[in-house]
Amino acid sequence: MTPDVRDRADRPFRADPRTVTGGAIPEAAWDRALRLIGQADEIALACHVTPDGDALGSMLAVGFVLRSMGKRVVASFGDHHFVVPRLLRFLPGQDMLVPPQDYPAAPELMITFDVSTFERLGLLRENTARAREVIVIDHHPSNEGFGTLSLIDSTAAATAVLAEQLMYRLGGRLDRDIAVCLYTGLVTDTGSFRHSSTTPAVHQMAARLVATGLRTDEIARELWDRSPFGYLQVLAAALERAALEDGLVWTYVTRVDRAAHGLPYAELEGIIDIVRRTDEAEVAVVLKEDDQGDWQVSTRSKGKADVGAACAALGGGGHHNAAGYTSHETVEATMDAFRRELGKVGWPRAG
Ligand code: AMP
Ligand code: MN
Ligand code: MN
Repeated sequence: MTPDVRDRADRPFRADPRTVTGGAIPEAAWDRALRLIGQADEIALACHVTPDGDALGSMLAVGFVLRSMGKRVVASFGDHHFVVPRLLRFLPGQDMLVPPQDYPAAPELMITFDVSTFERLGLLRENTARAREVIVIDHHPSNEGFGTLSLIDSTAAATAVLAEQLMYRLGGRLDRDIAVCLYTGLVTDTGSFRHSSTTPAVHQMAARLVATGLRTDEIARELWDRSPFGYLQVLAAALERAALEDGLVWTYVTRVDRAAHGLPYAELEGIIDIVRRTDEAEVAVVLKEDDQGDWQVSTRSKGKADVGAACAALGGGGHHNAAGYTSHETVEATMDAFRRELGKVGWPRAG
């Protein structure tokens, strides 16, 4: 279900940041996490492949906290082509990152961030399977918990919300670097505080983070307001071929489009936000061909259609209004399959 801010607006919100998500995670689970972390000397952190601001930001924020406790920290994500997307290179703490090849083969304690399924660990799947303990910190409703301990709260607007709670519970102190990481997670997953997940508690968290003196204008520019010139050409090609059919707007971007302008795959992230503004469409889809030749399918809904359920049925996942999956088929076959799954989850509605 889409969280509805109106359901929560009249609930008293508390000043204690540890209680802001409504207690979906049992106290015993937090206690166990603190115990596991307390006992470990080295802690291996992981976030999902092709990391976004929430995945990388949450992971690095907790990395800073663990380091301040004297822990050895390694952090990674399981991409074949291990590079931090240009958009996220401004995040502090990237010296914690190691490529998947250098990741501990069988970590004593692992913590995953924003990883909704085991598959989203990519190249780190084997390491995770061999880890002694795996704490899964996430906010995807579809996450069934692939670790030995779940800290999963689907009412949290971002994994960064849970990362902040873990920080306070560990006795960590919020500083500017941690705040930049957490804010990046919060601001990306709430769509700049536009999505319905933006509760009073989200703004309160933002206030705590901004109070450390971080530059929200600079973060916004890094995340959304810059791109290489080639982006304009690739965007033009994508918009040129946009199609509108029965309340669904969609387009695609090929490897060839990108190669013509030397544009890395990660630069395509913002295209869905332009396509989804179409008034006549309830659902928006952008197919992005990655460097391996697979289609990464980004889908968005305005609320009536559960794209998360449709994507989950196609091997991916996400949220009610924002979800994705990977397709190895042609553009046409990919769209046919997606329309079919949307139909199964009851959209478009008859009549
Ligand atoms: P994106 O369209 O890439 O911004 O992703 C939107 C949402 O869908 C995010 O919450 C992702 O976690 C989820 N998502 C995207 N791609 C996949 C995938 N291949 N498998 C599972 N979830 C995905
Ligand atoms: Mn994510
Ligand atoms: Mn997230």
